[in-house]
Amino acid sequence: GPTIVWFRDDLRLADNPALHAAVERGLPIVAVYVLDEDSPGVRPLGGASCWWLHGSLHALGESLKALGGSLLLRRGPAADVIGTLAASTGAGAVFWNRRYGAAERAVDTAIKAGLHADGVEARSFAGSLLFEPWTIRTGQGNPYSVFTPFWRACVAGPPPREPYPAPESIDDGSGTLPSDRLEDWGLLPTRPDWAAGLRAAWQPGEAFAAEALDTFLRESLARYADERDAPAQTATSRLSPRLRWGEVSPFQVWHATQRVLRGADAATASSAQRFLTELGWREFSYHVLFHAPELATENLKREFDRFPWPPLDDRVLEAWQQGRTGIPLVDAGMRELWQTGSMHNRVRMVTASFLTKNLLVDWRVGERWFWDTLVDADGASNPFGWQWVAGSGADAAPYFRVFNPELQAARFDPHGEYIREYVPEIGTAAYPAPLVDLGETRRAALAAYEYVKAAK
Ligand code: FAD
Repeated sequence: GPTIVWFRDDLRLADNPALHAAVERGLPIVAVYVLDEDSPGVRPLGGASCWWLHGSLHALGESLKALGGSLLLRRGPAADVIGTLAASTGAGAVFWNRRYGAAERAVDTAIKAGLHADGVEARSFAGSLLFEPWTIRTGQGNPYSVFTPFWRACVAGPPPREPYPAPESIDDGSGTLPSDRLEDWGLLPTRPDWAAGLRAAWQPGEAFAAEALDTFLRESLARYADERDAPAQTATSRLSPRLRWGEVSPFQVWHATQRVLRGADAATASSAQRFLTELGWREFSYHVLFHAPELATENLKREFDRFPWPPLDDRVLEAWQQGRTGIPLVDAGMRELWQTGSMHNRVRMVTASFLTKNLLVDWRVGERWFWDTLVDADGASNPFGWQWVAGSGADAAPYFRVFNPELQAARFDPHGEYIREYVPEIGTAAYPAPLVDLGETRRAALAAYEYVKAAK
């Protein structure tokens, strides 16, 4: 019978190992995406993620059509949907690319067992990470808890495989099978339509992802090392939502960068290494998630469970969310996030530090806001980033490192271009006074941290 290709976080045709293997199998293909809001423990998508998913699924459907295929859309618990689809099509095999969160792995393992019991082949492939989490171990056989030796171990091994080409055509096995209409899934905001800024900033889809990678390598890679920390510069790749949704694979990014590296001048070469190291942080986040599935909900350093968080003040939280704290770099970042669904990495660190340390709000509260508002909201990188800033995470910044948003602005946005873009009323009476005193709140945070240290 036909091969079912179950698309998940891999919304692309090129370098899609599951799809590639399905085409090699030589039988008709049933491509399906399942909107799963029911499987236990699978975290519901945030609003900005839903917006991105809609656009990316639309693009994937069109690309499949252009090759003679189609994309079935189904809603429900993945186990039911895939089981029913396999039975009704008489499928001989179901292929997918792996996921790494505990709940997702549990779903996939159960489905695999169910299919095998019914005599259907079920195979998973490595499409989202350069290095599978169980392959990178310390000399003692443990997972790494520190980034630098982790990444050194990754790059010391065999290089990541070459990307697979996109199929030239697809033999569509979906016939008259019913499909949901994407429009009926309600992924786009309606009243109010808050997505105008997202539409202006982004175009989801594999073709735009390839273009973004290409443009970055041609125009920005050479200055990446020098300018990646400056939020007003366009020196970073902006590939994070593409990687999150799998519109581009890390294998494609890796090998495209290697091609530039060959014959590059010294400055470009060191920039390229720096860029690949950032991809390494993405890998590290996923490896940490794989080995510590509680990453999004629990302090990895358990002594932080004793942190004396004061009661949450909703007005303070809202001022942070809406970019009205009176601290210019924080407000610029939070407004960039709300308007565009993204925020520069340097400013993510500053806004997260301000929330957890100057406002003494539990990192999980900030993580949830980012989860809802980021187009790259990622089950590994987002909680990893928050725990890194909060000091409770793997290879985290030490707690006593409190980012000073004024010094950070002076250093990384010296001409105030970034701040003025998002906070045009800066310097006028319309701009609020600082919500808190940076020095006082910093001292209070360090005092609170003494409890944590004492608990160690
Ligand atoms: P580039 O500098 O061009 O880097 C290339 C790629 O490497 C990125 O696209 C991303 O996939 C990866 N990468 C870069 N830096 C990191 C990092 N520190 N950790 C993990 N991966 C990295 N990244 C997400 O993809 N999703 C998130 O939900 C997310 N939440 C974050 C929350 C906080 C509090 C912090 C401090 C960081 C978070 N990051 C997250 C990491 C980082 O900020 C973004 O990946 C980066 O800003 C994306 O911009 P870029 O694609 O231009 O990055």
